[in-house]
Amino acid sequence: MAKPKVAFYWCASCGGCEEAIVDLNEDILKVVELVDIVFWPCAMDFKYSDVREMKDGELTVAFINGAIRTDEQEEMAHLLRKKAQMVVAFGACSHMGGIPGLGNFCDKESIFESSYGKSCPSVDNPNNVVPQKISKMPEGELTLPGFHNTVKSLDQVIDVDYYLPGCAPPKHLIMTALNAILSGELPEKGSVIAPEKSLCDTCERNDSKPEKLSINEIKRISLTEVDPKKCFLEEGVICLGPVTRSGCSEEGDGRCITVNMPCRGCFGPPPEVKDMGGKMISALASIVGLEGEENMSEEDVNKLMDQIVDPAGTFYRFSLPTSLLRRKRMDKKE
Ligand code: SF4
Ligand code: SF4
Repeated sequence: MAKPKVAFYWCASCGGCEEAIVDLNEDILKVVELVDIVFWPCAMDFKYSDVREMKDGELTVAFINGAIRTDEQEEMAHLLRKKAQMVVAFGACSHMGGIPGLGNFCDKESIFESSYGKSCPSVDNPNNVVPQKISKMPEGELTLPGFHNTVKSLDQVIDVDYYLPGCAPPKHLIMTALNAILSGELPEKGSVIAPEKSLCDTCERNDSKPEKLSINEIKRISLTEVDPKKCFLEEGVICLGPVTRSGCSEEGDGRCITVNMPCRGCFGPPPEVKDMGGKMISALASIVGLEGEENMSEEDVNKLMDQIVDPAGTFYRFSLPTSLLRRKRMDKKE
């Protein structure tokens, strides 16, 4: 019997999701025994024409990582959708826009200016040359994919069947997804393949929280020595555990928590949370300054909130394109 055909593709992301496949180690051999990997440009020399020549629906599943930022990524997402019976958004950038999605706080012009213009100290570009879709050269025309003004999650561009969350998705969940696909025992379409509980619900440090949690100072993790047994919030360090889905480590504690770093939210929200950033701000508001609250004026609260360096990047680090905000409103029309 013919093996199911599988494709992996990489859009706007750092490449860590491709590493996660390699990190399956010897399990990758089990995967290769059960499926035919017919498209994986990062690892093997496949061409786009190989996909174009496939019959519609010929692929059993396409795992697509990365957000959508360029014409090429958008075109490939549509092509893989057409050729695959099932599409899995693989990793935080594909799922929610991820780190590239923070580009939605700027527009294309300001990104090009900071990367190629005078404001970038390491760039010598007196003629202000920026990437063009078509450049006419003596040898002929050179082309580049168009760069979009707004970063999108995969499901803002094509229909997505399942989501594998994480930056990057952990090995145990990749294997869960593959086994579910191979056995046909799939959850409801649109499911995120991870537990529904929040990270706090499974975190060992949750027990350390006092009954009435209250903080009067917000600290930066890089400048703070945190007791590895205590909840980060109790120590005044922002941890997105209350608004993040669990499952990043098989044991329940978050992958970051076990190495004494707070959660930044890469697994996305549990089902009851619609906007991670908004919900976390609300959670923080409920614990800030309760101790001695009679002495805390609005000005004191504002001063406390000013201690949060980069609030937008803290609360929407992985989820801006799929949040209620989606992007910063710019003066010019999109
Ligand atoms: S806020 Fe962070 S450290 Fe505290 S219980 Fe939740 S996940 Fe654990
Ligand atoms: S602890 Fe949070 S940021 Fe770290 S891997 Fe888990 S979900 Fe992602």
